[in-house]
Amino acid sequence: MSETVKSEPLKKLHIKTYGCQMNVYDSERMVDILRPLGYEVSGEADGADLVLLNTCHIREKAAEKVYSEIGRLKELREEKTARGEGRMTIAVAGCVAQAEGAEIMNRAPAVDLVVGPQAYHQLPELIARTTRARGERLSADFAPEDKFDSLSAERHVTGPTAFLTVQEGCDKFCTFCVVPYTRGAEWSRPVASIVAEARSLAEKGVREVTLLGQNVNAYNGDDGAGNESSLPLLMEALSEIHGLDRIRYTTSHPNDMTDELIRAHADNPKIMPYLHLPVQSGSDKILRAMNRKHGRQAYIELIERIKAANPRLALSGDFIVGFPGETDKDFDDTMDLIRQVRYASAFSFKYSKRPGTPASGMPGQVDEAVADARLKALQALINEQQQAFKADLVGQTIDVLFEKRGRHNRQAIGRSPWLQSVFAEDADHLIGQIVPVKIIGLGNNSLIGELESVPA
Ligand code: SAM
Ligand code: SF4
Repeated sequence: MSETVKSEPLKKLHIKTYGCQMNVYDSERMVDILRPLGYEVSGEADGADLVLLNTCHIREKAAEKVYSEIGRLKELREEKTARGEGRMTIAVAGCVAQAEGAEIMNRAPAVDLVVGPQAYHQLPELIARTTRARGERLSADFAPEDKFDSLSAERHVTGPTAFLTVQEGCDKFCTFCVVPYTRGAEWSRPVASIVAEARSLAEKGVREVTLLGQNVNAYNGDDGAGNESSLPLLMEALSEIHGLDRIRYTTSHPNDMTDELIRAHADNPKIMPYLHLPVQSGSDKILRAMNRKHGRQAYIELIERIKAANPRLALSGDFIVGFPGETDKDFDDTMDLIRQVRYASAFSFKYSKRPGTPASGMPGQVDEAVADARLKALQALINEQQQAFKADLVGQTIDVLFEKRGRHNRQAIGRSPWLQSVFAEDADHLIGQIVPVKIIGLGNNSLIGELESVPA
């Protein structure tokens, strides 16, 4: 007699990720945790059984977006219930959950659950509790090691590139920044756990890994022999993994760029020649007020040393305009620094006042219109440099890691060593491979390439 095994229907999970790559990594890990419970990822919030908002608190706009999204979800939940499809659970994760957990519960009663960035490994238990009694809230005071200890090294991957968090938190306390309050003190994962995760990624076809940390170049995890490792040593260990051919890391602080790390850019061919090294401002007065703990000249000299170690290395950065007390002269100093360094790309932001940070109470808050104009001028300069960098690549043959199909038939999209997207025709059979490509033109935000020779 045969027995019918009744399987649980799949539950739909929708995750919306805000902010930095560390949140992208965390969202992927949340999916890994929830998949064994029968959740499958849905691109739509409509009809989802569980919606997770993985939030960012870095700027005011990012935090406010969450509240308007909760309003929209509340309506979708009512429609789902009215259709007789069961109740949608709404969870808020990430840095807004950490910083404003109680406020979210008061301001947005539709939210069932808040879970901070160090506590998401507890999601299965929390979700079970919330479905029993609405309104359960978790204290997010976990240490990062608890989280990483309970996450499996096995990851679900969807392409040849992946993020891998190696370090969390920050002890630098820049006066504008909420990270030390939302992500807590600096902590590095042990080398062995990172290598195990990277090995599992490589076995699944990942060729390029980006190591993540708020201050990733301060990485000092346990090397397994009771000693502190370092980022260059970690990358050396990762370079041994068969199939893993490209290593990147982000974000770095100038003060943690050691000689050993700079040398690694010359000695370790798997480290990509691209470095995200934010300076925020080119004015010594503003750098002091930001508590960046280095001056303008020290940054410029550091860049010279890095470029001497690897002349092919290109730079990206972060800039804040309109920090309290920033005068036209301070802003000119920033523009002048950008002209000296020449960036391949950069992120730039208007200063956003964050509650609880020292800068929020500083005198000389800059007029919105002035900050807008400065941001526009800075972005125009960065854009010029970005286009010039790309134009220099035309005519060169560069290695491209093909990642996915393009919109044209047989077109594939890959990445250059400097992170630009490269489009090539007749290349869709090369997805997952690193191939020499001749750059023949420029797209809006990309490079157009042609295969040099088609590998068998
Ligand atoms: N740890 C990195 C560093 O030291 O540069 C940055 C991490 S932070 C998540 C990313 C960027 O957000 C910063 O480099 C800064 O440019 C920007 N940022 C942080 N706080 C900000 C604020 N209050 N207003 C505007 N931009 C801010
Ligand atoms: Fe924020 Fe980066 Fe400064 Fe740390 S070093 S406080 S993460 S800007």
